[in-house]
Amino acid sequence: MLIDTHAHLDDDRFRDDLPAVLDRATAAGVSRILTIGVDADTSAAAVRLTEQYPVLAAVVGIQPNHVAEMKPGDWERVLEMVQNPRVVAVGETGLDRYWDRAPFPLQEEFFDRHLQLARERNLPVVIHCREAEADVVRMLRAAFERHGPIAAVMHSFCGDSATAQACLAMGLHISFAGMLTFKNNDSLRQVAATIPLDRVLVETDSPYLTPMPFRGKRNEPAYVAHTAACLAGVFGISVEALAEKTTENARLLFKVI
Ligand SMILES: [Zn+2]
Repeated sequence: MLIDTHAHLDDDRFRDDLPAVLDRATAAGVSRILTIGVDADTSAAAVRLTEQYPVLAAVVGIQPNHVAEMKPGDWERVLEMVQNPRVVAVGETGLDRYWDRAPFPLQEEFFDRHLQLARERNLPVVIHCREAEADVVRMLRAAFERHGPIAAVMHSFCGDSATAQACLAMGLHISFAGMLTFKNNDSLRQVAATIPLDRVLVETDSPYLTPMPFRGKRNEPAYVAHTAACLAGVFGISVEALAEKTTENARLLFKVI
């Protein structure tokens, strides 16, 4: 059994065949999928999908690249959605210096708001970090020093070992997506090998970041099995043992069954 801890199933690319996508995930041993929003509308769509498909749980929030385009009332919608029992985490939130779609101080303000909301609701946080590792660690450390260990995951992790260790020391989990399987990504596999087995998660980030051997095609939750197989190789354990461990980790962090 596997849990895909990060997928964007509200995406247009799943509009025509989502039931078949979910059937293939089940056939591949994926017992649960977390579908995540990037703004108020896609978060609401994620919640609606969970009502239609019991295999899904939702994560709601405003992704850093979308904080500048928020409409009045959008944050209040997030506050309302986190009360839904099918919402298992807050996010994705974080910081992004790769795109220039939102002023950095506004990203920081909303990252802080999400962290605070998650603490208030006792929910974990899904963190997006792109070319902003030092800033994310700085903000997490400020929260950690005031409030203690942080229930959160660094999603689609592609940072260095120092970033991973800093996050682990504050209680976070590290999640790997398809990039882990890319031939030229030995450096990420070397970082992955240093993560304790009880803190590691797998995800697809569907429809993005498709693992080998499907790189270039649309990603879908069934393909999390390829990232899991790669990670099992990194740790030198069986795919079954890796699946069991990452699924247990996801269940404990997101309180899902
Ligand atoms: Zn994502």
